[in-house]
Amino acid sequence: MKVPFVDLYAQYLNLKEQIDSAIASVIRDTAFIGGKYVEEFEKNYAQRYGFKYFLGVGNGTDAIFIALRALGIGQGDEVITVCNTWISTAETISLTGATPVFVDIEPDYYNINAELIEEKITDKTKAIIPVHLYGQPANIEKIVEIARRHNLYVIEDCAQAHFAKFNDKLVGTFGDVATFSFYPGKNLGAYGDGGGIGTNDEELFLKMKMFARHGALKKHHHIIEGINSRLDGLQAAILNVKLNYIEQWNQQRYKHAMLYNELLSDIDEVVTPKVRPNAFHIFHVYEIRVQRRDELMEFLKKNDIAVAIHYPKILPLQPAYSRLNHVPEDFPVGSSYQSKILSLPMYPELSEEQINYVVSKIKQFYNHK
Ligand SMILES: *Cc1c(COP(=O)(O)O)cnc(C)c1O
Repeated sequence: MKVPFVDLYAQYLNLKEQIDSAIASVIRDTAFIGGKYVEEFEKNYAQRYGFKYFLGVGNGTDAIFIALRALGIGQGDEVITVCNTWISTAETISLTGATPVFVDIEPDYYNINAELIEEKITDKTKAIIPVHLYGQPANIEKIVEIARRHNLYVIEDCAQAHFAKFNDKLVGTFGDVATFSFYPGKNLGAYGDGGGIGTNDEELFLKMKMFARHGALKKHHHIIEGINSRLDGLQAAILNVKLNYIEQWNQQRYKHAMLYNELLSDIDEVVTPKVRPNAFHIFHVYEIRVQRRDELMEFLKKNDIAVAIHYPKILPLQPAYSRLNHVPEDFPVGSSYQSKILSLPMYPELSEEQINYVVSKIKQFYNHK
């Protein structure tokens, strides 16, 4: 049996008629940039998410950069974020001229450890960017409470967590601004690059929109220099179709994760993911911690099971951040996990049979009955 890591073609086949017709409409209307499909998606996403304002942008990396710039963050500032994340979260901080300040992760939930944030706050700190990594909500109420006490902005990186919830409230609606990625492999993915930013703050929204649109809110009236970052019409039309299914897909992922958890529970060499109390974890990634990780990975690949690592090296130990002079001991949890974590196949269309097969191979590897 073959088990891919994700299967975007299976998802397409289930929605083929609607997607094909959405693409044909955009072409018929030549609404490639801007236009009604983008406006419709921005309106729908804002409504479904409960944001007053939502802006489509080029990708999830731009979304973070635009939010940081619109909040006035730049040279001489510090922004606190987490050591284990995709590099977009940190490189965009540096791109503004500010310095990323990394915090270790929680041992159980793989997200920024809120207990370790305050010791990193200085008089240069301007914002915190928590990431709802793997689709698991970060300890967001506590993070926002710390931020409010120290007068800091909170940018929630929701690239892996569309419609995840904490205390029955959608992630992204706790802080000042939320950023999303619609990269094809994300829980809500386009057929190319795409991103979005949500907020309830009108002034911030207009600043973000202006910066993302060449510094102009009116054509040929450039108040500042900006960038060009937009969600295109084809992606918006596809996302409009897929938005109707995201909650159902998240439920399916959650169900698959619970089945993996149950079937893997009696293998001593495997630690399965825990869900934070009162959280709805949407399992963008199903991450386990295992002994002899690299050997297991090879064994699974040989058996046609695609796996991945999120991420093989925490950011502060990457060459890109050598200027910060970090050592593994600065991030004891993150640095010790990087040789143990392994992401198993996870997508809504995954079958029980496939999950059983993956688990049977893991059991075989550890000589488990
Ligand atoms: C994917 C991702 C991004 C960036 O999104 P792109 O659309 O690929 O630019 C940012 N942060 C996190 C945590 C991500 O997983």
